[in-house]
Amino acid sequence: MGNELAAYADLRARLRRAHVLGSVAGLLGWDEQVNLPPGAAAQRGEQMALMAGLEHAEASAPALGAAIAACEAAPGDALDKDARVVVAAARRDYDRATKLPAELVSEKARLSSEAYHAWAAARAARDFPAFAPFLEKHLEIARREAELLGYGERPYDLAIDRHDPGLDAARIDALFAELRAGLVPLARRIDARAEEARARGEGPLALKGFDVGAQRELVRRVTARLGFDYERGRLDVSLHPFCGGAGDDLRLTTRFDADNPLDALYSSIHEAGHGMYEQGLAREHAGTALAQAAGMAAHESQSRLWENQVARSRAFWRWLEPELRAAFPGPLAGVSGEQLHAAANAVEPGGMIRVDADEVHYNLHILLRFDLEKRLFAGTLRVAELPEAWDALCEELLGRRPAHVGEGVLQDVHWSGGAFGYFPSYTLGNMMAAQLWATARAKLPGIEDDFARGEFDRLLGWLRAEVHARGRREDAFALTRRVTGGELGAGALLGYLEERYG
Ligand code: ZN
Repeated sequence: MGNELAAYADLRARLRRAHVLGSVAGLLGWDEQVNLPPGAAAQRGEQMALMAGLEHAEASAPALGAAIAACEAAPGDALDKDARVVVAAARRDYDRATKLPAELVSEKARLSSEAYHAWAAARAARDFPAFAPFLEKHLEIARREAELLGYGERPYDLAIDRHDPGLDAARIDALFAELRAGLVPLARRIDARAEEARARGEGPLALKGFDVGAQRELVRRVTARLGFDYERGRLDVSLHPFCGGAGDDLRLTTRFDADNPLDALYSSIHEAGHGMYEQGLAREHAGTALAQAAGMAAHESQSRLWENQVARSRAFWRWLEPELRAAFPGPLAGVSGEQLHAAANAVEPGGMIRVDADEVHYNLHILLRFDLEKRLFAGTLRVAELPEAWDALCEELLGRRPAHVGEGVLQDVHWSGGAFGYFPSYTLGNMMAAQLWATARAKLPGIEDDFARGEFDRLLGWLRAEVHARGRREDAFALTRRVTGGELGAGALLGYLEERYG
């Protein structure tokens, strides 16, 4: 097979340049969250705005468009299948970068910055009407973008496709209906049991006084053992944990709380799951779709699989418990292994805040947001009606209404940045994680015995081959079908939650 086409070499070189530029901007962004002195915000803003302009110029350069067009016009046998994946993804991204007028892009950036401050103030004051006009404006911009990019009839699909190429609202709707039918009764059953335990006076385990330096050591040791490569990455501290960087320079962050060691541990394992995916992408193809994640849902499937299916399991805890006791002999004296494992798998009925939710309830928070976004875009729900619709749906799904909009409709930052269509990826990722896990268990006999010995190479090697190395060749549906032999669905997630919490 060819691929020696000059236009294809040119395309790859241009995509690589854009990728390098993006990685520089990414480091500035990481540094802003981890290291920035308080007085440097305006200066950093100027640096990042310049980088964003350079990135946009690279991504929308006419010469890039010409290279894509030349590849598309080449005879059928000039490019192999992988090269055609690269060209198709480059076309999609190029159109997104060029078809939106600069005024609209800067209008959205300006609105997002104003809306963020308005949202933070409105949330503190529990005043939805103060935020509503910003949300209206974001929806209007999203509709205009959809019109310009050929999604005029189904603007919500564009919002979804941005985070998960190839996915759309109708297919997610069907999957979420299946999940909802099983999950709501399961959650109510688990809630009732948790309420009974609480009535018997069995409160959550109180953990106190875990030295932050020792936590940092432990978190690093655990994530390295799972397979995160610290020759090609770091772990630092930020207000909100995230995974940044790219290629040979991944940047994980976490936060430490002396009275909640499990928070740093699980958030670090989650971010390390994202980081291991990135480290498993084919670096020789950096900048092209062959070295990009398949989408947000696939990304989230990796972080969740390590965080939940692996690191909350009994087998993993058999290895972890002695590590924990060695790191924190004082604070763990008198705490049983059973209590510790239960604390790692605690469920919290009636919690109104998505980011604090456990594995069982988390997906209900997502079903709620997806349903409301869908109706907002369809025009069957007006912004002014949103708080009431939120509360009513919250009661249906989570069993109670929020006490105020601060723990209801105003709790998430996403809408202030116009980031619609982002939430469903979390639950799709949970579904994929459960399906991948069921397949891994079947294909890798005794895999849980590995965990009990602190060995994770077999699982990581399997994920590397089946998911990471595949890049963006498939969407979430095709990836799930190839690896698991089944369609993406809610069954495996429901089965997993039932087995672990039911
Ligand atoms: Zn994540």
